[in-house]
Amino acid sequence: MGAAHGPNRGSAFRISCIGHGRWRHASPPPQARISDGCAQSAVEAAPTTARGAKLGTVTTAHVASMEHAPAAWRVWPRAALYSEGWTWRLIDRAVTAGRLRRARRDAYLHGDVDAATFAACRIGGQLACVSELARRGVFVLEANRLHVRVPETAGRLRCEGRDVRIHWSGGGERDAANVDLLDALRDAMLCQQPLEAIATLDSALHLGLVDEAGLAEVFRRLPRRLQILRRLTDAAAEAGSESIMRLLLRKAGCHVQSQVRIPGVGRVDFLVDGWLIIECDSEAHHGGWEKQRRDKRRDQVAASLGYATYRPIAEDIFWHRDAVMAAVRGLCAMRAVVRP
Ligand SMILES: [Zn+2]
Repeated sequence: MGAAHGPNRGSAFRISCIGHGRWRHASPPPQARISDGCAQSAVEAAPTTARGAKLGTVTTAHVASMEHAPAAWRVWPRAALYSEGWTWRLIDRAVTAGRLRRARRDAYLHGDVDAATFAACRIGGQLACVSELARRGVFVLEANRLHVRVPETAGRLRCEGRDVRIHWSGGGERDAANVDLLDALRDAMLCQQPLEAIATLDSALHLGLVDEAGLAEVFRRLPRRLQILRRLTDAAAEAGSESIMRLLLRKAGCHVQSQVRIPGVGRVDFLVDGWLIIECDSEAHHGGWEKQRRDKRRDQVAASLGYATYRPIAEDIFWHRDAVMAAVRGLCAMRAVVRP
């Protein structure tokens, strides 16, 4: 079997999946890998490719950026491999060599498939909802449980003791191991609490994975009771903690401005009621003494200009929201005493 048997030979595969939510740009796969007949590591949804049109479905039309085009791993039934020139011996060799992985009876995946997608396929469905979004690098608060979409007609599922959330629904591309992006966002809106759900949408918008038209399509698929959430999204939010903090402040009735540039201080995450700066700190973005020194000096300049600064840490915004909002209320009460 030569290269000509490889699916979508010559398509523009520019990005490969290298793990949960991480992407790297890559040259087209080497010919040797194409020649094994199932070599494309991620099925890229370059809109011009047949593969993208097929697997991207509705999503492709709504994706804002090629840099974050949706990708899905392909599931290969044995018959599909045979039809492309494979023999049982070649399949056996590819599995032994790790180029193919057998997820379940009659379902093969590329050897580089990520663990979550493989697990979902092994169970008998597609990686979906928050699990699929986490794979794409979109913020979700909790992704420990595997969310899997399974056809309503599915028989026995191989959960094998895993903590799995099953989404029973039909549809979806049968040869894709991952749901499309808009379906994943729709499911995540239903599966998460409203604040987390909005933070997820903010993240998808901020990453350029979805545009306003895509967002409209997500909400078209959602029940009426959730439509109110659409106007709460903000693509400027740079992290999930920022999104949730913004929503907590709005809920408390504060006047909140996001990403405000203050002369002498620089850009701050939030300016509340015109005097309180809130910076959402996380270990990932604010580690190291040098960074802490810069932050403290920024706070010092801000204080000299009459601003107060509060720096809640991300884990408290996620898990200890009462404590965070008690701090905000305390600062506001103090301000009221100082400036009645
Ligand atoms: Zn879910």
